Amino acid sequence: MGRAFVYVILGGGVAAGYAALEFTKKGVSPGELCIISDEPVAPYERPALSKGFLLPEAPARLPAFHTCVGANEERLTPKWYKEHGIELILGTRVKSADVRRKTLLTATGETISYKILIIATGARALKLEEFGVSGSDAENVCYLRDVADATRLADVMQTSTGGNAVVIGGGYIGMECAASLVINKISVSMVFPEPHCMGRLFTPKIASYYEEFYKSKGVNFVKGTVLSSFVFDPEGKVTGVNLKDGSYLPADLVVVAIGIRPNTSLFEGLLTLEKGGIKVNGRFQSSNSSVYAVGDVASFPVKIFGEIRRLEHVDAARKSARHAVSAIMEPDKTPEFDYLPFFYSRVFSLSWQFYGDNVGEVVYFGDFSGSSFGAYWVHSGHLVGSFLEGGSKEEYEAMAKVTRLKPAVEDLSELERLGLGYVVELSQQQLVVPVMDVSGSGSILVLDKPVYPWHAAAGVVVAASIAAFAYWYGRRRRRW
Ligand code: FAD
Repeated sequence: MGRAFVYVILGGGVAAGYAALEFTKKGVSPGELCIISDEPVAPYERPALSKGFLLPEAPARLPAFHTCVGANEERLTPKWYKEHGIELILGTRVKSADVRRKTLLTATGETISYKILIIATGARALKLEEFGVSGSDAENVCYLRDVADATRLADVMQTSTGGNAVVIGGGYIGMECAASLVINKISVSMVFPEPHCMGRLFTPKIASYYEEFYKSKGVNFVKGTVLSSFVFDPEGKVTGVNLKDGSYLPADLVVVAIGIRPNTSLFEGLLTLEKGGIKVNGRFQSSNSSVYAVGDVASFPVKIFGEIRRLEHVDAARKSARHAVSAIMEPDKTPEFDYLPFFYSRVFSLSWQFYGDNVGEVVYFGDFSGSSFGAYWVHSGHLVGSFLEGGSKEEYEAMAKVTRLKPAVEDLSELERLGLGYVVELSQQQLVVPVMDVSGSGSILVLDKPVYPWHAAAGVVVAASIAAFAYWYGRRRRRW
C-alpha cells in the first residue's frame, strides 16, 4: 500500500526545486505533485556548498539558499511546498522502480505510484575506494556533494585553522574548496594528475592565470601524480598522504574532489542510457514516454552542437527542469529544448563564465596580467565558445548572445585584435539572413554588415563601469 500522485519528482536537488516552481506556474493542483528525496531538507542551491557555506564569517546556512534564489526567484521553504499542496517526502531513499507499473519502492517499504515521473537524481561524488585507495571514511577526509558533507567539511575546517589541507582533484569543486580553505587560514596543497587545473575546460594559458593567482595565496600545486595511500594516527585520523610519485604531504584535513557519477542505477535495464546518463529527447522524455529525466542525470540533445550531451552544471539543471515541466503541462506550446551550455565559477575575488563549446582554435584577448581577459574557440570557421574572467553583466550577456549565433569568423587575428569588443559590438547589431550551419545542426544567423569598427571611447566608459559593477555584482552574488 502507498500513496499515488499524478506527478512524482524523484530526487530533491536543484532540478527538483525549479521543476516544483514551474509546476505551480503552470497550474498544478494541490495533492498532484510530490518530491521524494533521500536528503532530509527541501531542495537547495547546491553551488552554495562550496562557496558561501564555507565562509569563516557569516556563512550561508539553510533556509537562506533553498531553490530558487540562485536564479533570483522565490525561495521555496518547506512552508511554501505545504502552501502549494506539494508533498515533500524527505529522508526517503527510493530503492527500485517499475516503469511498466509506474511505481517506485522506497527504502521504508512504501510503494508510490505516478502517472508522470521526473527523474532528478543528480550525481554522487566518486569515492577513492573506486580507484583502489582505502581509508576515505576517516573523520578528517571530506567529500562535498550535499549539505551533510558541507556541514562536516565546515566542522573539520574549524578545527584545522593554521594547519594543512590536501585537496585531491583540480576541477571545479577542488578549486572552490581550495579557495575556501585558504580563506579559513589553512595551508593548501592541491594534487591532481593532469598538467593543469580545470583540465576539461581550461587551456594551459587560462589555467596558468588561476594557478598563479592561487600560488599568490599560498596554494601549493602538485601535478602529474595521484594519491596512493593515507597515513593514519592511532585514532584512525589521517595525518598525511602518500603520493604515487613517492612524495608525502602532511594533512590535518583532506578534501577529495575527483569527479561525480550520475545516479542512473535505478533505471539501468529499464530506460535507454547514453553518455553515462538517461537519454532523453528535446522535451526531456526518456525511452519510456511517462518518464522524464532532468539535471545532471540526463543526456539531452544540445541542438546548437547537434549531439547528445550530459552536463554537470546548475544552469542546465534549472533550465532542463523548467523545460520538462513545460513540456508535460503545455505540450503544444513547448518547443524542443535549445540550450547554450553555460558554466561559471567564483573563487577569491575572481569570477568567470563560459558559454558554448571548447573545441577548435583558441583566440585569447584582454590582459592576462590584469583582472579581465578571455578566450574564444573557433571551430570550422565559426565561433563556438567563449570565456571571460572579470566581465560585467552586460559583457557576459553579449558573450552568451553572440556565442549562441555561432557567427562565421574568417580572420583570427582580427578577432584577437577586437577582443571583447567583438561580442559587445556584434550583440548590438541587427541580425538577419539565416544561413545553414556548417555543422548541419540547424540554421544560424549572420550579420547584415561587417561589425569591425571598435569604439575606443566607449571601451573606456565600459571599463570604468565594469570595475564598479563587478564589485557590486561580486558582493551581491558572493554566496551562491
Ligand atoms: P542534485 O542537485 O545533485 O540533486 C539530486 C537529488 O536526488 C539529491 O537530493 C539526492 O540526494 C537525490 N537522490 C538521488 N538518488 C536518490 C534516490 N534513489 N532516492 C531519493 N533521492 C535520491 N554548477 C555550476 O554550474 N556552477 C557552480 O559553481 C557549481 N558549484 C557546485 C558546488 C558543489 C559543492 C556541487 C556539489 C555542485 C556544484 N555545481 C555547480 C553543480 C550543480 O550543483 C549541479 O549541476 C546541480 O546540483 C544538478 O542538479 P540536479 O537536481 O540534477 O542534482
